[in-house]
Amino acid sequence: MYNTADVIIVGSGVIGCAAAYYLAKKGVSVIVLDKDDSIGNGGSSRNGGGVRQSGRDPRELPLAMYGVEHMWPTLSEELGIDVEYHKKGNLRLGKTEKHKEILQGLTDRAVACGLDVRMIDGNEVREINPYLSEEVTCASWCATDGHANPLLTTLGYYKNARALGVRFITGEEVVELQKIKGKLKRVVTKKNVYEGEKVIVAAGYESRSIIQSVGIDVPMRAELIEALVTEAEPKMFEQMLGTADADFYGHQTDHGSFVFGGASGLESTAKDNGKMITASITAPCICRGIMKYIPKLADAKIVRTWAGYEDICIDGIPVISEVEEVPGLILACAFTGHGFGISPVVGKLLSQMATGEETMLDIKEFRYDRFHANI
Ligand SMILES: Cc1cc2nc3c(=O)[nH]c(=O)nc-3n(C[C@H](O)[C@H](O)[C@H](O)COP(=O)(O)OP(=O)(O)OC[C@H]3O[C@@H](n4cnc5c(N)ncnc54)[C@H](O)[C@@H]3O)c2cc1C
Repeated sequence: MYNTADVIIVGSGVIGCAAAYYLAKKGVSVIVLDKDDSIGNGGSSRNGGGVRQSGRDPRELPLAMYGVEHMWPTLSEELGIDVEYHKKGNLRLGKTEKHKEILQGLTDRAVACGLDVRMIDGNEVREINPYLSEEVTCASWCATDGHANPLLTTLGYYKNARALGVRFITGEEVVELQKIKGKLKRVVTKKNVYEGEKVIVAAGYESRSIIQSVGIDVPMRAELIEALVTEAEPKMFEQMLGTADADFYGHQTDHGSFVFGGASGLESTAKDNGKMITASITAPCICRGIMKYIPKLADAKIVRTWAGYEDICIDGIPVISEVEEVPGLILACAFTGHGFGISPVVGKLLSQMATGEETMLDIKEFRYDRFHANI
């Protein structure tokens, strides 16, 4: 039957595309299904491109560190496409004593996990980035953090997976999973039925309703956030920036434009009907933050704004897990707004899980059954 493969992947975001690529490299047959008409039209083509280790949950840090050490530096070469990866550091900025406390807490936790990150004062901040305002009094500095281009990374995995024989089928909305003789076998879309020995569900927040069809749940919610891109500016700096207050984050791209992201908290006021529409208040809110930290950008022109959903897990880290009750099912969801930076690692781990190999990193922290009621 044409609709069969060793592995069916639901979702053609960067996670699904990366998993497909690493599986195809092992000679595994793969079908990737996406409900959209385009590849990677979820968070993967809308994100800010941060490849961060600092500010991560300690449980997630080993994945982020592995990626920065072993995968991102050679990814462009591996995929034959420049993913615009730059390992030029991350400054998380603060202006007040409260900010300093927040940054110190994040720094202490990361240092305890072996990450080279430290607190610096305002003068050192401006030695690293002279464009930052005098109001900045402190920052956490992680020299090995960086950023990459999410569209090119997703495209790179997609093109290479296709070249290795992976079949990508768009316009296929998965509505149900079905077990046969106690094992997951069928993936049912609105139009067709597909069969695989393993099924990886990497469909962002919508993974939740898909896996509920076989009685499994992941406690996550969908949250809309926004980003914007400016006209190209002369080259200013290469670091990734964020703030203790989380009022914005961003970087300057190779092309010269700045990509900044953030939230006003009022995104849900844009009644978008699932169409990811921006709220009129959010871009001005992000810009107010940027102008205070980087005064030179006060006159930068915004070319485009957009919104995208994050799949926020109740405990802040993803679910990357096989499911005992449903043999054959593998979950890769709930990335909580930071899945891009770890996507190469997660893709490789998923390929190892689907082929029954021992995973290169311990993934027990990401199990689907770690959630317990707090009674
Ligand atoms: C504005 C924004 C900024 C962000 N910034 C960063 C950042 O700087 N750094 C970072 O690491 N992360 C960031 N993230 C998070 C990051 O984008 C995601 O964690 C990552 O892209 C997750 O990839 P994914 O493949 O799991 O999901 P997605 O890219 O969302 O892909 C899921 C796919 O599943 C498909 N799908 C959904 N339902 C179905 C169905 N029923 N049947 C078939 N297909 C279905 C969708 O169409 C979609 O293509 C940001 C996210 C947003 C929205």
